[in-house]
Amino acid sequence: MGEAEAGKDPDFLEVQYIDLPGIVRSVTIPYESYLKKSDGFIAAFDGSSVEGFEPINRSDLLLAADKSTFSRIPWRPERARVLGKIYEPSGQRYRKDPRYVAEATIKYLADSGYGPLAGAEVEFFLFKSLKIDVLNPLRGVGYSVVSQEQPWDTEAPHSVVKRAYHLPEPMDTLEPIREKMLKYFRAFGYDFNATHHEVAVSQSEVSVKAGDPLFVADEIVTFKQVARQVARENGMVAVFLPKPLYGDNGSGLHFHLSLWDSKGNNLFADDSDGLSQTARYFIGGILEHGRSLAAFVAPTVNSYRRLVPGYEAPVYLVWGYSNRSAAVRVPATGGNKGLTRVEFRSPDPLCNPYLALAATFLAGYDGIVRKIDPGDPVSDNVYEMEGRSLKTLPKSLDEALDALESDYQYLLPVMSKELVESYIEVKRRESDAIRMYPSPVELYMYMSY
Ligand code: GLU
Ligand code: MG
Ligand code: MG
Repeated sequence: MGEAEAGKDPDFLEVQYIDLPGIVRSVTIPYESYLKKSDGFIAAFDGSSVEGFEPINRSDLLLAADKSTFSRIPWRPERARVLGKIYEPSGQRYRKDPRYVAEATIKYLADSGYGPLAGAEVEFFLFKSLKIDVLNPLRGVGYSVVSQEQPWDTEAPHSVVKRAYHLPEPMDTLEPIREKMLKYFRAFGYDFNATHHEVAVSQSEVSVKAGDPLFVADEIVTFKQVARQVARENGMVAVFLPKPLYGDNGSGLHFHLSLWDSKGNNLFADDSDGLSQTARYFIGGILEHGRSLAAFVAPTVNSYRRLVPGYEAPVYLVWGYSNRSAAVRVPATGGNKGLTRVEFRSPDPLCNPYLALAATFLAGYDGIVRKIDPGDPVSDNVYEMEGRSLKTLPKSLDEALDALESDYQYLLPVMSKELVESYIEVKRRESDAIRMYPSPVELYMYMSY
C-alpha cells in the first residue's frame, strides 16, 4: 500500500478493462459502491460500443473487480484503479475478455504441468509536441499531405541524434522523465528490471519484471498509461508506434518466455548446452506459427514498416543464440539456469499484450505437443541471407491476417473461434482505412512521374 492509502479512502474508483485491439477502457464509480459490492458486479457497460465485442442486440456486459490489481492512481490520490473481469449477463466469464484469455492460457498450460513465465521489454519514443491531438486523434488526422509534415517534432532537445544507446545524462535528457514514469509504475505495485535510452533518437526502453502472462500484460498496459500520463505532464507525447521514424530503429516489445514445473524447475534449462529439448520444440512451435502469430504480436499496418532488414528487428523466421536479426533469440545467461529463456522479437508495443502473450505460449505449446523441430540455430546476420530460402515474417498486416485465417487451430483450446473472427474483422477494418488514405510519401515518390 502506498502512503496515500494509509490515510482516507479514495473518493472514486476507475474500473478498467481491455478491448480486443488492446485499448484500455475505463468507467468510474463511487468508492463506496465498490465497498458495498466488491464480491459481485460493480459496473455494467455497452459491449456494442467496444471494438470487437458484441452486436447491438446482445450488448450488455458486466464488470467485476480483480482485487489483486487495486491501487491508488499515483497522480490523482483521491482516485483508485482496479482492473476488471468481464462477465456475460448470465454470469459466465466473457470469452472475448483479453484478461480472461490470458488467465485461461495459464490454466490450460498448468493442466499439462507447465507454468508459463514471461518478461517484456517495452520500447517507445518521447516526442516534444504532436501536431495531432492524441486525445482526439480523429480531429487532427487530416494533417497536410502537401507539406510533408511529420505529426510530431523530433528536434526536441530531449535526446541526442542516433547512436544514443545507453548514453547517460546530460546527453540523455529523457532520464528524469523515465524516472517519474517508473515511480508511478511502482506506486501501482509493479516493478522494472532496467531502463535506458535506446538506439534511436528520443527512444527509451523499460523492461518490466517477469511474471505470469496475465501479470505481465497488466504491467504493460499500466506502464503505457503511466508513460502517456508523465509525457503529458512534461508537454511531450509517448509514442508506441513500432516505426514512427523512417530510417531509424523502431520500437519492439520483445517477449522473454520460459515454462516451469510445479517444483520450481525451469523446463527450458538443460545440463548440457543450456537449452532443453522442451525449449527447442517450443521454439519450433513459434517458428511454425510465426506468420499467423504476427497478426497478434505485430498487429498494425505500421508494424510492418518495422519488420525490415537493418534495424535490429526480425525479418526471417529462424532462431539463434545472441542473434538480434532472428525472430527468436536465446539470450546469454552466464550459466544461470533460472534465466534460461527464449526471446521472441516480433512483438511490438501496439499489440494487445494479453492476446499476444497467450497466442505465443499456445504456439510454443503446440510445438511441444507436436515435437516440432526448429532446425539448426543460425549464427549469421540473417539480414544478409537474401536469396536463401528462409521462411519470412509477413510483409503487411493483411498478409498476417491471411495467415491467421488459415492457421488458428493451435489457439482454439483457449480462444473462441468467434474471438479470432472478430479480431480479424477489426484488424481488416484498420487496414482498409489506411489503405484508402493517401500518404505523404506517395506525393514525394510520384510527383514527377
Ligand atoms: N528496437 C529494436 C526492435 O525494433 C530492438 C533493439 C534491441 O535489441 O533492444 O526490435
Ligand atoms: Mg531494446
Ligand atoms: Mg530484447
